[in-house]
Amino acid sequence: MSFRWRMTIWNAVAFAAVLIAFGFLVYGLLHRVHLDQIDAALDRRAAEIAADPRLAEDSPAALQAWFEERLEWSASQAALLDAAGRQLAAPPIGRAAAAEPANSFSPRFETTRDSRDVRVRRLLRPLSLGGQTFTLAVSASLDHLDEEMDQVRNVILATAPATLAVGAALAYLLACAALAPIQEIRRRTDEITAERLDRRLPEPAAADELGQLAHTINSLIGRLEQSFGQVRRFTADASHEIRTPLAIIRSEAELGHDSERDPRARFRSILEECARLGRLTDQLLILCREDSGASNAPQSRVELSELLAETVDALQSGAQSGSVSIDLAVQSEAVVVGAEGGLRQVFRNLLENAVKFTGPGGSVQVTLRSAAGDAIVSVRDTGVGIPPEDVSRIFDRFYQVDQGRSETGVGAGLGLRIVHSIVTAHRGRVSVESTLGSGCVFEVRLPLGDATSDGS
Ligand code: ADP
Repeated sequence: MSFRWRMTIWNAVAFAAVLIAFGFLVYGLLHRVHLDQIDAALDRRAAEIAADPRLAEDSPAALQAWFEERLEWSASQAALLDAAGRQLAAPPIGRAAAAEPANSFSPRFETTRDSRDVRVRRLLRPLSLGGQTFTLAVSASLDHLDEEMDQVRNVILATAPATLAVGAALAYLLACAALAPIQEIRRRTDEITAERLDRRLPEPAAADELGQLAHTINSLIGRLEQSFGQVRRFTADASHEIRTPLAIIRSEAELGHDSERDPRARFRSILEECARLGRLTDQLLILCREDSGASNAPQSRVELSELLAETVDALQSGAQSGSVSIDLAVQSEAVVVGAEGGLRQVFRNLLENAVKFTGPGGSVQVTLRSAAGDAIVSVRDTGVGIPPEDVSRIFDRFYQVDQGRSETGVGAGLGLRIVHSIVTAHRGRVSVESTLGSGCVFEVRLPLGDATSDGS
């Protein structure tokens, strides 16, 4: 069922409920007003009877006369009742002294049926007679009121279905009018495909719900456009990086018959390019996992001093062959909770870069300390440094400052991006400071695990 119809039904049901409540209210109020008028008339009538001066005289003759008149009243719906509520058929004179004085009571109204089974409204009030309390009952027929209320009810019942039908039709028209702009937004959104992500919905000037909806959809399309752009750039950059080693491998293979070149050199070159491709594929895989947050590497407590010592050891011989020294200074022990493999990759990438971009005779200093709830690892080198205009971009994918700067230029500009992704996934931060020509300092901050004390 369409939303339009559901809205119509909800509105019609709500309208019907209001209509029924309103009908009951009108009926009830009219009934009450009429009943109040009848009650006021009964009250006046009872007061007239009770104010008869003969009742005060207390002489048998006066009471007799009064009672005979009551018989007439009886026809006009007034009666005298004894303490048990029975209508008296004879004057109460003579029995007055013998009877126990009944308790007086407050006047009250009641709706009942009289001896002819006619619905009546009756006022019962105390009346003192010959030292005894009787009940004076004054009644009025409700025939007229019932007839009038029946008419009111019939009018309400006859007009309600028509009113409800008009209400439902109006509800349908309103639903159509309210949903028309939404239909328009839907139609225009449908027209925006992956190829046309530069298009936007027109945003109404008024910042009402529809304006907000159009704005939200536009921001969503904006984010999609950005993501699509990133994916396109990523694919283009990755293809470009893969194309170079593939071209080298291909040309080496095609020129295999060239007897002037040593076949061993040719195979070495092919193997080098294969290694480069393998490394690139690994890096792309790590990046994809980290960026999508799908990395489910087991979390454990990692002693950073141990991890750094192992990483430094692993790179030491390679560094020494390039006459670069690596030193590790642990100022305070630090334990973090995270994926050991990922963190090892972070420090490996930073150290490899430091060694790679530091010339012979240079040094790399790794320091571990902790401050303000963070473990801080800094990697300082005395290498070529990074030009100020590039500092803000070196953590971007595939960004390389200048491929000719390192002698072993096998990178693809993904190493620092991986560092950034892994550190961010560990709720940490990575930053760099650099002076061109005299090296740079990379600093990684990771939140300390619970058991580690602040060593600052
Ligand atoms: P790559 O794998 O190509 O080295 P990275 O993402 O690790 O890519 O580094 C990106 C760029 O940042 C590199 O091209 C390099 O120019 C620069 N860079 C990274 N680390 C250093 C460093 N320690 N000293 C100088 N430049 C660096």
